[in-house]
Amino acid sequence: MSKRVFIAGFKHETNTFSKLPTDLAAYKARTYYRDDEVAQKMRGTATEIGAALDAADKHGWSIRLPIYANATPSGRVTKDMHDHFTQVVIDSLKADGPFDGIYLSLHGAMACEHDEDGEGRLLQSVRDLVGPDMPIAVTLDLHANTTDRMGDLSDILISYRTYPHIDQYEVATQACDLLDRTMKGEIHPKVHVRRREMLDGADHGRTTGPGPMVDALKTLDKLIAETPGVYAGSINAGFPWVDIHDVGPTCVVTGEGDDPAHAKIAETVMEQIWQDRNKLSIELVKIPEAIKRVQTSLAQGVSAPIVLADYADNPGGGGYGDATKLLGAMIEADLKDAAFGTLYDPEAALACKNAGIGTTLRLEIGGKVDPNVQGGPLSLMGTVTAITDGTFAMEGPMTRGTRVDMGPSAVFSVGGVDIVIVSGRFQNYDKMYFKSMGIDPTKKKVLGLKSAHHFRAAYAPIASQVIVVDDGGGLTSRNYKELPYKHVRRPVFPLDMD
Ligand SMILES: [Zn+2]
Repeated sequence: MSKRVFIAGFKHETNTFSKLPTDLAAYKARTYYRDDEVAQKMRGTATEIGAALDAADKHGWSIRLPIYANATPSGRVTKDMHDHFTQVVIDSLKADGPFDGIYLSLHGAMACEHDEDGEGRLLQSVRDLVGPDMPIAVTLDLHANTTDRMGDLSDILISYRTYPHIDQYEVATQACDLLDRTMKGEIHPKVHVRRREMLDGADHGRTTGPGPMVDALKTLDKLIAETPGVYAGSINAGFPWVDIHDVGPTCVVTGEGDDPAHAKIAETVMEQIWQDRNKLSIELVKIPEAIKRVQTSLAQGVSAPIVLADYADNPGGGGYGDATKLLGAMIEADLKDAAFGTLYDPEAALACKNAGIGTTLRLEIGGKVDPNVQGGPLSLMGTVTAITDGTFAMEGPMTRGTRVDMGPSAVFSVGGVDIVIVSGRFQNYDKMYFKSMGIDPTKKKVLGLKSAHHFRAAYAPIASQVIVVDDGGGLTSRNYKELPYKHVRRPVFPLDMD
């Protein structure tokens, strides 16, 4: 008899310092699919749901997939939104069952208005309904703040192992394969979660070069190979811009039965991450120094773009995506053959659309969500050089095939800088953010990107140089001591100790 499997996805990386609430409208602005629409939109994509659909075919599952929702990182998820998602899941579990197993694609860093552990709360509602014996497999982002509650309520818990996250499909495939074996009674997995007194660690999870995260994964894999009965091991770097008790890195091991040797693996790996806590592989550069380096490189002649990554205002981590500090410095430096994107400003995008292509006008752009964060709008004379509806499919490698709808979008060209202005908040980790606007990023000398690290998957191969810019301020700056943490367990590294 084919197994019946319930599948759903609910994602959010919450930045509790953001004043933007994450409600149903925030999900609908990015990804909110129901019933048949989920498979229509997600089949064939390099995502967890894409993998779960293929796993269902491979294992001969009969599935029910009522909802997939993913919002751009922002403030706490509203109680209404969390209740809504939970209700859709509970209603479907009751109406469409019985099921043999459950697979959930979650993030692990969702904080809600009414519960700082959004994933744990969802899992509790599901577990209360289906009972202790129903196998539940969960996949998380590498930046999950994994709680003990998440570990206790799931049978299989696995996170991405790459940052940029290019292994989402593979990780979900692994989780679904283990779920299939669990449903057949071949294995009886149990999850172990371990942490240290850390807000941030493991080099924020970077796997694009040598460093603490790569070293910790090596240790984890060595221990897994030496220890019988381990099915999966993950390292979560944690997501530091969320003011909750259980924030921070974790090591999570899924193994047979309840074996103390498996918990010991997680402890050993966390000890290594603790010892390596001050090792960082990426240099963060202040804006004046970054511009100086760009000018020096341009003077020497460059054959490929120099990338300036706006680390402190990364929409992928909850930044508003409209901060103007780096953009303003690029314009002031009078850079030629440069592009910047994406800048969130629906008002300015609409003004460009109304003005029409070829129109030269003065616009106030960016800095509008919260001028206290990185300064107010820039007042600029420029020319509208492109207008689109803002839709495209990502070319990858990360989340290849995923549909994006930025809303009304325009290119506003100021001097030598083409600014991509959009109506939604999006991290620029795919070259289509420029190409869909008629800009060929490979032909530019300088690219300013609203992204902290994910951009490397698509842009590092075409870049002559990458400069990561963090001038402080911004909702995703690494200057944690500037942020007003109140709920994090103390003492904690690096707020209280070195
Ligand atoms: Zn992540």
